[in-house]
Amino acid sequence: MNILVINAGSSSLKYQLLDPDTGTLLAKGLCERIGIDGKFTYKASGKETLDAVDTAMPTHSEAIQAVLDALVDPKNGVIGSMAEIGAVGHRVVHGGEAFNKSVLITDEVLKAIEDCIPLAPLHNPANLTGIRACQKVMPGVPMVAVFDTAFHQTMPPKAYMYALPYAYYEADKVRRYGFHGTSHKYVAGRAAAMLGKPIEELKLISCHLGNGSSVTAIDGGKSVDTSMGFTPLAGVPMGTRSGDLDAGILQYLMNKYNMTIDEMLNVLNKKSGVEGLSCVSSDFRDLESAAGKGDSKAALAQEKFAYEVRKYVGAYAAAMGGVDAVIFTAGVGENDKVVRAMICSGLEYMGLKLDDEANGVRGKEAVISAADSKVKALLIPTNEELMIAMDTAAIAK
Ligand code: AMP
Repeated sequence: MNILVINAGSSSLKYQLLDPDTGTLLAKGLCERIGIDGKFTYKASGKETLDAVDTAMPTHSEAIQAVLDALVDPKNGVIGSMAEIGAVGHRVVHGGEAFNKSVLITDEVLKAIEDCIPLAPLHNPANLTGIRACQKVMPGVPMVAVFDTAFHQTMPPKAYMYALPYAYYEADKVRRYGFHGTSHKYVAGRAAAMLGKPIEELKLISCHLGNGSSVTAIDGGKSVDTSMGFTPLAGVPMGTRSGDLDAGILQYLMNKYNMTIDEMLNVLNKKSGVEGLSCVSSDFRDLESAAGKGDSKAALAQEKFAYEVRKYVGAYAAAMGGVDAVIFTAGVGENDKVVRAMICSGLEYMGLKLDDEANGVRGKEAVISAADSKVKALLIPTNEELMIAMDTAAIAK
């Protein structure tokens, strides 16, 4: 059964057509500038690539129609007809406490996703638009919602509660939700396969390190703590996000510079992280190159990032009472051997010893710890679309 995976933004829509049984990617692409001038991109192996071709897309419905037209196109398509799409899997950012796993989309589910809009005011409305457009263009095809937050719903209260007045949780739903759940779930499953052990017997720490980064403690296949919080601003420093900080800083800076809360949050989300600290870039390749030329702030940003990730690894080993493997994934985790080595250095005391040569690989599944390392270090490329397709196929069946 082929699955169409949709990740809808307010004016964009990413798609992939996958066979979840074999993991084969049949086609992928992007609709951009929906509601503006419409640009369509399509890539399928052995077929002509369409690159940002002008295509009228007044709404998401025309965008979905353009995707379907391309997929069944007699010359460049990859399937004979729409009947070869068994179901559609939709990435939905926030499921609040309503969803602890992926679900078949019904009217009640749409309502519950709507109820989560205050928790993700930028993302959930766009995700809903994508779902409704698909329902209109593909009537009768099962649709499944896969939430970024669902995997973390297994956290115990001591991990997800903030030490705030309890009423803010009861009345306002203020708690840790966590994000990147689809990625953490996927790499945890792959880690169990690589280690040849049932996931129920493993304590894993998954480091999703990309432009946005989060670290998750996974005990017996369940998320028990994660570094992102009520929003994706919390945890380790990121490309441009500050990560954890003393809330008192907000009051001090806002008073001093006469900033509104929105201006302050803009600084924390868009102008901080390794970019803010380095004054160079949010991209770790640029940090590496600048640090190599003696830029001390770029070197500090790399060091700070690695130090904070290492602290989370130590904290989560303590939280779980041990760890069998530390997983590195996403753009930085999969590609940056220098940062991986910086994170692992100093973890020898708890039995994690990196193998310098094995750590030289990039972008493919590998054990990168030494043969005698008690705690394994694993490099696992993430594949959120495949995870969405797998969940969708399981539910649609
Ligand atoms: P993601 O959000 O997972 O797509 O990760 C994007 C980030 O990965 C970029 O901003 C870079 O910082 C980082 N990245 C990608 N390729 C490399 C590489 N070859 N070496 C170091 N960092 C990389």
